[in-house]
Amino acid sequence: MNIYDRLGVRRIINAKGPATRLSGAIMRPEIAQAMAEASRACVDMAELQAAASKAIAKATGAEAGYVASGASASLLLATAACIAGLDPGRMSRLPDTRGMKNEVIMVRSQRNFYDHAIRAAGATIVEVGLPDRYAGAGVRDAEAWEIADAIGERTAAIFYVADSQSRPTLKEIARLAGARKVPVIVDAAAQLPPQSNLKRFIAEGADLVAFSGGKAIGGPQASGILCGRRDFVMSAALQHLDLDIHADMWEPPATLIDKRKLKGTPQHGIGRSCKAGKEEIVGLLVALELFIAEGDAARHARWLRLLQKIRDGVGTAATLTIRGADDRQSVPVIEMQLDKRLKATAIALKLQRGKPSIHLDPVLRDRNCLVINPMCLAPGDVAPLVAALKTILARKPA
Ligand SMILES: *Cc1c(COP(=O)(O)O)cnc(C)c1O
Repeated sequence: MNIYDRLGVRRIINAKGPATRLSGAIMRPEIAQAMAEASRACVDMAELQAAASKAIAKATGAEAGYVASGASASLLLATAACIAGLDPGRMSRLPDTRGMKNEVIMVRSQRNFYDHAIRAAGATIVEVGLPDRYAGAGVRDAEAWEIADAIGERTAAIFYVADSQSRPTLKEIARLAGARKVPVIVDAAAQLPPQSNLKRFIAEGADLVAFSGGKAIGGPQASGILCGRRDFVMSAALQHLDLDIHADMWEPPATLIDKRKLKGTPQHGIGRSCKAGKEEIVGLLVALELFIAEGDAARHARWLRLLQKIRDGVGTAATLTIRGADDRQSVPVIEMQLDKRLKATAIALKLQRGKPSIHLDPVLRDRNCLVINPMCLAPGDVAPLVAALKTILARKPA
């Protein structure tokens, strides 16, 4: 009997994409197998993280890397690293940041729900820039000089949310931050594909970058990558690893943690509650290898084939348009434009309540359009998805 049946939990068809509330992606069997293998033996976690650091450094071009329980956890660790540095006393006092650099500068238009991770480390966000939607000049957003202006004695870091519409550019910010010796943390959680972005933000001057392991990489849902400068990654590791050990018996791998740089052994840090298990770390590393090996073109073609089957299956029951078919670096999606008799929200809700329960992306519901994202669809999902769409689109409104 399937484990979800045994628990009385419905399996869903996830055409929304790798949303955490919908359990993220479906892992490839090679990854699940590696996780099962990892579960059958014990290891020293610092040694495993040191191996992860090496693999992540190679994949990202960063000096070092680390695996935490998600991009969000990675951002918390990154912030804690920028605030506490390699000072064990400060690590122990977080999230109490009295007497420390505890301000993180952020462009106001980039504020989002995930920046809770920055605040959870004990930082206060200092907002910069005014995304003015009313003045005739259009949206000006933040400018580089405004960020430079906000840097002061209490500045711990600049936080940048990577996205095609983020302004100013990361390069500009990294240049001005470097001149003032302020580290730049980048949230690149959902910036894959293209896989060249694994290296891009480090190359553009970021000090620390966070990626989700459970989105396009296809790794465990509760995994994320932190990569960047060696000392910051060391600080993140020290604030994340279990350090319930006698100082004189503590022998961490020098490639991850250089004990000589510490005046004492830190205690459990603020990241201790973002634990990543050996299974997640191994799963993430195998997923990262497979993600890189598949490549953007093959991945795009795989997604496109799924979407074409859905579009062809639904036929003329609605207007299904594939977006991003020519852009191999994107995630192609179907936009399903509904005619006036059907309301997008009502259709999405009916699908969600159906058997099987189907989740589409309501991001364009104001245009009476529903989006089908292929990232979390299994090949076996296509037939029931097509059948449900045809039924619901054919139904006359009451
Ligand atoms: C998904 C996402 C996160 C959180 O990633 P997790 O791996 O789920 O922790 C953070 N920031 C942005 C912009 C995201 O899209």
